[in-house]
Amino acid sequence: MKKNSKAIFQTLSDYIFPRNCYGCEVRLEFYEKHLCLNCQIQLPLTLFHQTTENPLFQKLSNRFPTESATSLFYFEKEGVLAHLIHLFKYNGVKEIGVFLGSWLGDHLKESAMTADLDAIVPVPLHTVKKRKRGFNQSELIAKALSKKTKLPPTF
Ligand SMILES: [Zn+2]
Repeated sequence: MKKNSKAIFQTLSDYIFPRNCYGCEVRLEFYEKHLCLNCQIQLPLTLFHQTTENPLFQKLSNRFPTESATSLFYFEKEGVLAHLIHLFKYNGVKEIGVFLGSWLGDHLKESAMTADLDAIVPVPLHTVKKRKRGFNQSELIAKALSKKTKLPPTF
């Protein structure tokens, strides 16, 4: 489908099934997905993937052998990011995990950080928690990350 056809289809689809931003609930434009641009620019990107000697790497490498480390965002107790994580983990809005994993994948696929990686390994979730939540949030992020980076998943 061509770009213009996709835009027209999304506009028609939005007219019938309006989509709202998960951050502020404003109606999304046809070119926005899950978050409006205003909410996206509020998210505290780390850009840690641009350098191997980033604060997360330094912190982790002081505790155990670490090749590299990154994080898409800085942690925030409140705000759009905290709201998204709450919706994802506790309200089961799985598409937020896919969205965030894809976003991280967009950053990492261009990064030297992934050049020597063999696979994507999600953080395991205890069986009881997985049963209670219904899914492992880390697996959803890892699947989207795997799709973007072309690194095979291990699950
Ligand atoms: Zn918004």
